[in-house]
Amino acid sequence: MTALTPPPSHPDPPPHLGLTRDEPMAHHTYIRLGGPAAFFGAPPDFEALVRMAAWAREAALPLRVVGGGSNMLVADEGVRAVVVSLRHACGEVTFDDQRHEVTAGAAVMLPALARAAAERGLGGLEFAIGIPGAVGGALQTNAGIGDGRCIGNIVRSVEVLRDGQRLTLSRDEVAWDYRTTSLRGSGDLVLSARLGLTPRPRAEVEAEMRRLLEARQRTQPTSEPNAGSVFRNPEGDHAARLIQAAGCKGLRVGGAQVSTLHANFIVHDGKARGGPTADAAATTKDVLAVMAEVQRRVRAAFGVTLVPEVEWWGDGPLPEPYRAASPHPQRPGSD
Ligand SMILES: Cc1cc2nc3c(=O)[nH]c(=O)nc-3n(C[C@H](O)[C@H](O)[C@H](O)COP(=O)(O)OP(=O)(O)OC[C@H]3O[C@@H](n4cnc5c(N)ncnc54)[C@H](O)[C@@H]3O)c2cc1C
Repeated sequence: MTALTPPPSHPDPPPHLGLTRDEPMAHHTYIRLGGPAAFFGAPPDFEALVRMAAWAREAALPLRVVGGGSNMLVADEGVRAVVVSLRHACGEVTFDDQRHEVTAGAAVMLPALARAAAERGLGGLEFAIGIPGAVGGALQTNAGIGDGRCIGNIVRSVEVLRDGQRLTLSRDEVAWDYRTTSLRGSGDLVLSARLGLTPRPRAEVEAEMRRLLEARQRTQPTSEPNAGSVFRNPEGDHAARLIQAAGCKGLRVGGAQVSTLHANFIVHDGKARGGPTADAAATTKDVLAVMAEVQRRVRAAFGVTLVPEVEWWGDGPLPEPYRAASPHPQRPGSD
């Protein structure tokens, strides 16, 4: 009998780096799906982060950051990458009460930041109360809501790690657009952002945040694992309207389903292969199959190819829903 050749594997990282192997990404994504990251770490500070980034370069592995994991879909097979969480290295929040500013670490979650600002009588982040992302992730997509309020409008500067160096970019050095910015895909790793806020009575800020959250609870499947709006809004229309009109609400493949509440959300019942629940149920493959079928039906009915908003994390060729999508003009929408 011939011995099987094992697949090429990466050398072990030095133990002091604190990187672990084969971390299930299902533990780090909001949709609670996704296979293992080849290496995973949560560096305790900036210096440790720089060392991890240097090791990733030496090992010829991409370095990827996971924030709230709310805008990504990770392959069931996982990703050959060093994935880092900045929750320890970039988790600080510092208010400047004189200037009505806050400097927030990249890993600070937007809802917690909005609440902390409200407690100090500062408004400007009300829109972010229902967005389950971290500051660093929000700066990739210029996260915001349908009335035009978005993080880019209140950014004063952004601190990044670029080629091993800390750099401060002014607001004007970043291009801000609908659900994208020049930081996205640039290789810059966001460390923190300085945001300008506005004095506003705490009770008013909190009342508005309550209203925004109630509206979300009425219209979005907030209790089921999901990845937010799956497709971008095409020019002059809403992805959710097209998906519903094409008869896709409730469409199911395996354990994944188009939400019956909001047609641009794909949900599952919380059971995930490789996830914290033992019963095998939904997989990322199921989500991709639902996305592909939604695209087919919307294209057949309206001639529009929906472009995924949720970012793909996987090795090898792009899966069908990402290949099929040719970019077309987008406009701000409800999410
Ligand atoms: C229920 C739900 C509701 C949502 N509602 C909204 C909404 O109203 N408006 C809206 O705009 N979005 C919404 N989203 C989408 C999502 O929350 C936002 O896009 C959010 O800003 C993503 O942030 P994140 O930290 O989760 O990013 P992640 O999903 O963790 O990461 C997304 C991308 O950003 C990169 N990234 C993350 N942190 C950094 C960093 N520090 N430096 C460099 N790159 C980084 C990642 O590597 C990845 O490429 C919603 C999602 C869900 C699940």
